[in-house]
Amino acid sequence: MLVYGTKTNATKMKWGDMADHTVQDVTAEQAALRTQIQRFLESNARARSRSDDEDDPGGLFDEVDESTERERIAQSQSFQARLADAGFAGITWPKEYGGAGMSPRELEIFNEEAAGYELPTRIFMIGHGMCGPTLLALGTEEQKRHYIPPMLRGDEIWCQLFSEPGAGSDVASLQTRAVRDGDEWTVNGQKVWTSGAHYADYGILIARTNPDAPKHRGITMFIVDMRSPGIEIRPLRQITGGANFNEVFFTDTHIPHANVVGDVDEGWRAAITVLMNARMAGVSAQGGGGGMGGASVRSLIALARERGVDGDPVVRQLLAGLWIRSTIQRYTGIRMRETARSGRVPGPEGSIAKLYGAQLSRDMGSAAVAIAGTGGQAWDEGARGGDRWAMAVLSAPGSGIAGGTDQVQRNIIGERVLGLPKEPQVDRETPFRDLLVGTQRVS
Ligand SMILES: Cc1cc2nc3c(=O)[nH]c(=O)nc-3n(C[C@H](O)[C@H](O)[C@H](O)COP(=O)(O)OP(=O)(O)OC[C@H]3O[C@@H](n4cnc5c(N)ncnc54)[C@H](O)[C@@H]3O)c2cc1C
Repeated sequence: MLVYGTKTNATKMKWGDMADHTVQDVTAEQAALRTQIQRFLESNARARSRSDDEDDPGGLFDEVDESTERERIAQSQSFQARLADAGFAGITWPKEYGGAGMSPRELEIFNEEAAGYELPTRIFMIGHGMCGPTLLALGTEEQKRHYIPPMLRGDEIWCQLFSEPGAGSDVASLQTRAVRDGDEWTVNGQKVWTSGAHYADYGILIARTNPDAPKHRGITMFIVDMRSPGIEIRPLRQITGGANFNEVFFTDTHIPHANVVGDVDEGWRAAITVLMNARMAGVSAQGGGGGMGGASVRSLIALARERGVDGDPVVRQLLAGLWIRSTIQRYTGIRMRETARSGRVPGPEGSIAKLYGAQLSRDMGSAAVAIAGTGGQAWDEGARGGDRWAMAVLSAPGSGIAGGTDQVQRNIIGERVLGLPKEPQVDRETPFRDLLVGTQRVS
């Protein structure tokens, strides 16, 4: 049972206490674990004490040069290794693959404590949030033993190769082809928007293996070594100035058959597992305070205090509203993880949480700039602070697109929660090669 409470008397509650809101520990083991986590974080991570302390050492959207990026990756990997040594990497993952084998409640305790620190772990979000859970669910025993421990320790970074120029929301229309030749597959095609492909060691790729089957049935998922011959990675610059996305081209790239995840031609099921985990990971990141490189309520409170507006009733109301919403978001995350742990597949609550989180992210960005005033729109070169708030605004729309757009989430909620009619799907039973999608044309 979760007991909801604050560390202080509610009548005396201050802004800082609100940001420290936790769920009370119900067992002595949980209280002891919290103490261990606090000790680890105190000696290994940087506490968030001021609003500009949160400039993100592992940010997904910052404009940084190559050597700064390499330095950040090295810092992230070193931190992750220490986390693994302390037994806090993969808190809910099975012990046999390097995890800690604990429950979602223990993970929540970690997240509650970690919210007060700047953890440089965002480069592992795709590996730990999507690829790892998918391999745990669908991978062979050999794949799990080989790939998961170094992924969890941060030695190997992963990316996700789903979207294509003609297949984003409708990713089942993908055209990248994989053709089997004995013990190998040969891949040709193009992916796009692949976050972190330029520093990733491995990726999970979905490719079309049977164009004669309807579009959802002829897809297979593979593990791909990103340093294989025939892979070309080209960066794409985004609105924040950074270049975290990439186009990835495959030209006669060979992948061993042993790297198939799940069954051949059954990759759609695997892809859904990845996207479901993506929604859960997104909820955790947002609940943990900040989402994808954006603002957190804690940082906004610190900013309001620094600007001397924390006593302004309008600002207080704005912050209280955001705090309530981020708390709801956090509890939705706990609910989803508990559902997953009990062996059930999280349902449309993933879409609700994704949509809610994306809206919250945008509102946090707007609030940041409103509180920062003109300092959030123009700043002297080298001055700290302003660029962070501008970045929060510029990166926020991405959370309403990545892992399924707001409109797609609304469609899912409409169908599965509200019972509205399904979108018309005229192409569900037609062989893929007969569809006019992507660059396919009538021959
Ligand atoms: C921050 C970020 C990180 C990303 N990282 C990755 C990654 O690592 N790997 C990867 O593979 N991809 C990644 N993506 C790509 C992302 O998955 C796609 O952008 C997303 O699925 C939307 O696809 P699209 O861009 O092709 O837009 P489209 O699908 O072309 O959509 C265009 C517009 O049409 C709307 N629309 C489409 N279909 C419907 C419908 N049926 N009903 C109503 N409206 C609809 C959409 O909501 C959108 O507004 C990332 C994107 C972002 C923003």
